[in-house]
Amino acid sequence: MIHRREAKLLLRAIKEGRISFFKPLVSFSGGVHYPEVQEITGADPHESAELLESLEREGILASEEAENLIVCPVCGSHQFFIQIRCRTCGSMKISKAPMLEHLKCGMIETEDVFRQGDRLVCPKCRKPLTAIGVDYRKHGYFYHCSSCGRFDPSPEKRYICQNGHSSGDSDLQLKRVPGYRLSPGGLAILEKELIDLGRVAQRLQSLGFYAEAPARIRGKSGVVHEFDLVVWRSKDSAVPSAAVSIYASDRPLDSMIVLATMAKSIDVASGATLIAAIPSLDQPARNLAEGYGMQVVEAGSASDLIEEIRTRLEGMLQKPEVVRSTPPETY
Ligand SMILES: [Zn+2]
Ligand SMILES: [Zn+2]
Ligand SMILES: [Zn+2]
Repeated sequence: MIHRREAKLLLRAIKEGRISFFKPLVSFSGGVHYPEVQEITGADPHESAELLESLEREGILASEEAENLIVCPVCGSHQFFIQIRCRTCGSMKISKAPMLEHLKCGMIETEDVFRQGDRLVCPKCRKPLTAIGVDYRKHGYFYHCSSCGRFDPSPEKRYICQNGHSSGDSDLQLKRVPGYRLSPGGLAILEKELIDLGRVAQRLQSLGFYAEAPARIRGKSGVVHEFDLVVWRSKDSAVPSAAVSIYASDRPLDSMIVLATMAKSIDVASGATLIAAIPSLDQPARNLAEGYGMQVVEAGSASDLIEEIRTRLEGMLQKPEVVRSTPPETY
């Protein structure tokens, strides 16, 4: 369940169609972050990534491959500087030199070996080099180790992260940088997350009851249970008069939620148990709920569901005595 204010702000933005895809941005100072998340919620760069990860765990968002980032295998930092060293002797006394080939004799050497004043002369056959592409050509750059003399087009690279960990090419970690969008079943969960029964609780308080939404209460077993709304006859009442649990999915909900709700409700000894579902319960679940004497409320949208819950609760609670709907002491 998401309680964080930032998550709600994001969910609201998705629901209102203000954003459909969270695109990552990778920068040297900020690492992987999501500018839209920061803009909508005021989160810092690090929190923006965490927030999306948590919404993925909730099943609301789904991630997809977007970019990648090389990170330090020890500390995860993406901030590196790079040094090179000789593959043969490990020395870092290395210079970078353009290589020339004298086509007439096949001599390949660094440019400085050919250089004589403003002319280029072959050190092997002593002939002057006249025109590039005709009697000599460039071979790109080589790295020259002055300790052992090795020429190498690609010496060993060492990546040193901001925390001083040194890694070679094969040690570095490739981190996936995902983008996020609403998951196939995400809309239904999002609807539920945005349901706020605070107004219903206020309304019930104005009728003289005591209500909390959401509510966490300890059952007889010692387990703390969460409900979307709990109503007591008064603030001093030992047990709740009614407890409401909301569930949402993209398809009719099955009997597992009925059993879970019943177990919570019995443990807190609630007078009535109301199970609210978006969009509905499937038929076996509905049969089971009714068999247990639970109140079932179903609606296609959050606003309809809230209205239904309010009406049902007012009807139930304003009867002289709430009928105890949970089976007596079944454990
Ligand atoms: Zn590191
Ligand atoms: Zn030559
Ligand atoms: Zn060397």
